[in-house]
Amino acid sequence: MRIPRRKGTCIKDGEAAATCCLCAQEIYRGERAWYCRGLTVCEDCFPRFARQELYPYEITMGGNDDNDLI
Ligand SMILES: [Zn+2]
Repeated sequence: MRIPRRKGTCIKDGEAAATCCLCAQEIYRGERAWYCRGLTVCEDCFPRFARQELYPYEITMGGNDDNDLI
């Protein structure tokens, strides 16, 4: 069975559907992945990727900076 893929190409069962932009691991059909800002990220790399993307929103609870809460 072939499934549609972007840009009109197809992939076969067992063939990688994408490659993780962070670790170059192949991502197969049915596996979870995230696509954000042009990057495809595998499940293994997602925690690191999410930390980097959300870094501007990081706060330290109980700190003394103006940006900190409580
Ligand atoms: Zn990865």
